[in-house]
Amino acid sequence: MDCIFCKIANGEIPSTKVYEDDLVLAFKDLEPQAPVHVLFIPKEHIASAADITPENSHLVAHIYEAAAKVAKDLELENGFRIVTNVGEDGQQSVKHLHFHMLGGRGMHWPPG
Ligand code: 5GP
Ligand code: ZN
Repeated sequence: MDCIFCKIANGEIPSTKVYEDDLVLAFKDLEPQAPVHVLFIPKEHIASAADITPENSHLVAHIYEAAAKVAKDLELENGFRIVTNVGEDGQQSVKHLHFHMLGGRGMHWPPG
């Protein structure tokens, strides 16, 4: 499958890794939108948050565990945002489930 995040997960495309275990990879976004901008992906291909099922939802829980660890490592004690874009209206450009962790500056609400 021609999926850039699958290629990042299997090492075919290099990335700046922040966290990795058997199930999950976190790496720096190529075009950071905040001082901290890390992407969390399951190594297994899931197209988006609209494709989460009882069979794969443990990966989402695992990603949030990893994110809590990374937030501590990156000293984001002042807070951060985690967001996942879904489909056309959500402005999802890469069709492999990923969670953006944004931090190091104040965020805006509502998002645009
Ligand atoms: P989306 O728009 O789908 O929510 O987010 C995709 C994100 O992936 C974007 O923030 C984009 O900058 C990032 N991105 C796209 N291609 C690459 C890549 O090859 N390497 C890295 N590190 N980030 C990428
Ligand atoms: Zn993929």
